[in-house]
Amino acid sequence: MASISADGRWFALGFDDGTMPFRAVKGMNDILPEQMARWQRLESAFRETMALYGYGEVRTPVVEETQLFVRSIGESTEVVDKEMYSFARHDTSLTLRPEGTAGAARAFLEHGVYSRAPLTRWYYLGPMFRAERPQRGRYRQFWQAGGEVYGDQGPVADAEMIVMLCDLLQKLGVTDLHIAVNSIGSPQARERYRQLLLDYLRPRAEHLSEHARARLEDNPLRVLDSKDERDRTVVSTSPSILDALDAEDQEHFSEVTRMLDGSGVGYRIEPRLVRGLDYYTRTVFEISTSSAGVGAQNALVGGGRYDTLLAGLGGPQIAAVGFAMGLERLLLAMPEEAPKKSLPCYFVTLGAETWSKALELAQSVRRAGYRAELDARQGASLKSQLRRADALGARYAVVVGPDELQRQVAALKDLAQHTQRELPLDQLVPTLLGELSHPQQQERPH
Ligand code: AMP
Repeated sequence: MASISADGRWFALGFDDGTMPFRAVKGMNDILPEQMARWQRLESAFRETMALYGYGEVRTPVVEETQLFVRSIGESTEVVDKEMYSFARHDTSLTLRPEGTAGAARAFLEHGVYSRAPLTRWYYLGPMFRAERPQRGRYRQFWQAGGEVYGDQGPVADAEMIVMLCDLLQKLGVTDLHIAVNSIGSPQARERYRQLLLDYLRPRAEHLSEHARARLEDNPLRVLDSKDERDRTVVSTSPSILDALDAEDQEHFSEVTRMLDGSGVGYRIEPRLVRGLDYYTRTVFEISTSSAGVGAQNALVGGGRYDTLLAGLGGPQIAAVGFAMGLERLLLAMPEEAPKKSLPCYFVTLGAETWSKALELAQSVRRAGYRAELDARQGASLKSQLRRADALGARYAVVVGPDELQRQVAALKDLAQHTQRELPLDQLVPTLLGELSHPQQQERPH
């Protein structure tokens, strides 16, 4: 049974039969108001950057038909095979989206956006769901912000996206970045490479992890993604996909890298970077960090080109390139900032007869555009209310007590200067607003 202590804090949680109260689902996190300043800073920087580069926001449902993900991401991928939250409703299998590209592509086609504009840039931000083993930086509900460019098959779009992401990460103060790029070519080149890789891996299968051995015949490219040391040793000398590319793919990739060279972005060509989802063609990239706070899950941004996905979903042949970044991981990589506490005004009340006047005064302050908190907790003492005003960093406290009200006055306490004066009720708000309009007096350092 839940109980409440004298100072208003909960101290015993649980039900009468001894069971524990509800908790968030494993791997899914609450984001509380005290964490929100950092989230909002990240989200605003992301939105500002996307607007600068001509992207418009799209919001699609968190649930899509399961088949959309199977067709886009690929049946034999880790995500589709093991990690989707799927459920049946009215004879249809539905899935909580594990990523944003498939839903955005579905919306792009469904609304015939391509018939109205030859080039479209979209961004999105929202929760994604994957049934992975939770650990620091890896969750079952996590937030992604991503962008998609439809209708541009040229290498500039790829390079510009990587440059934009570097700018954004720099703006957020994320350091120690590693930018890995690769080209996985056309589906035909990939098929050729698949065969080459199989020929290389089959005789070495006994040195691979059990997991890699199990998926070898099905999807040998996935072995390149493996984090297992045994697999890494084997693939470190495997044939490179770059050698299997068509001349046109090679030309496209060398233009991407030429433009990255020109823009001064320091990157590394990583021939074993294939990314976990099947829809990619040509350029793929990943940005990670070695910054200490992030831990083992250090991939911040992943992306690449997917020139065949829209046609594969039944749409026209439209080239596209996109990226997605994990917001929780970015927050781990962003530097700490001293929280800024500031509250212009805290209204202290003393008993029921003072509430309506205090409510009216607080409303006038808020209508003038200043944040004000009203404390009308039953039975809270003057001292405990002032303690809370102080904890919130309030610049002023207005005390509305019954004696003051009788005399048509209220007390205005300057909490920084430790001074107090009484003001007639009709002058309280104008005086307070006058003082708050001096910028140097609005904030108290903490
Ligand atoms: P992906 O769609 O797998 O390429 O993921 C793109 C980015 O989303 C990654 O680089 C991570 O930053 C983030 N991400 C992917 N999976 C998770 C997860 N389970 N928990 C937290 N972040 C994730």
